[in-house]
Amino acid sequence: MFLRQLFDLQTGTYTYLLADMDAGEAVLIDPVYEQARRDAALLSELGLKLLYTLETHVHADHITSAWLLHKSTGSKIALSGDGGAEGLHRPLAHGDKIEFGKRFLMVRATPGHTKGCLTFVLDTEEMAFTGDCLLIRGCGRTDFQGGDAAEMYHSIQTQIFTLPENCLLYPGHDYKGLTATCVAEEKAFNPRLGGANTQAEFIAIMNGLNLAPPARIDVAVPGNLRCGKPEKLGQ
Ligand code: FE
Repeated sequence: MFLRQLFDLQTGTYTYLLADMDAGEAVLIDPVYEQARRDAALLSELGLKLLYTLETHVHADHITSAWLLHKSTGSKIALSGDGGAEGLHRPLAHGDKIEFGKRFLMVRATPGHTKGCLTFVLDTEEMAFTGDCLLIRGCGRTDFQGGDAAEMYHSIQTQIFTLPENCLLYPGHDYKGLTATCVAEEKAFNPRLGGANTQAEFIAIMNGLNLAPPARIDVAVPGNLRCGKPEKLGQ
């Protein structure tokens, strides 16, 4: 399995390039608008055809490069059909299979951070891409975009913590320099969800965060609801 973890310094966003090198086919998870040229150059150098850009959710902190990469590479835009976005080519739902070469990702619905949050699980269950549902020693916020702490607790317990203990987990963001974790680590050490924390305790933690809104939310959410298509281009 070919995997490259890419980083956008300004927003702390991870983008993941997954490829079947034999087939020369790739997917990108959560690509960032400002990094479209970097990502297209990497694909070109590696001789990879980009089949899909996949979004774990409609982001509030950065704009996706899905539309830009569609225009430059012909990739299809795929994200949850429940997120309210327009201009996507493939609406995704729980249980869908995203194939590239001989490999595939399975789609698991993991709402809580937003209504349409998805986790992508590799065919072998050796790795999963959790977006802003489960972060390393944390989790995404649940106070806007249809977020719901009870739903997030349920998603993590039933869709992520049920993966194999050594399944590597790759988050949508990290702000402390960590890059990946695994199921056993988060079950043991996640201060919000690990150990014996109950759903009620988790909800109390989430409701007490009182976070400021993301700096770019007023631009990012509408931009992502157009899958990154600039507004001035109209329809
Ligand atoms: Fe997010």
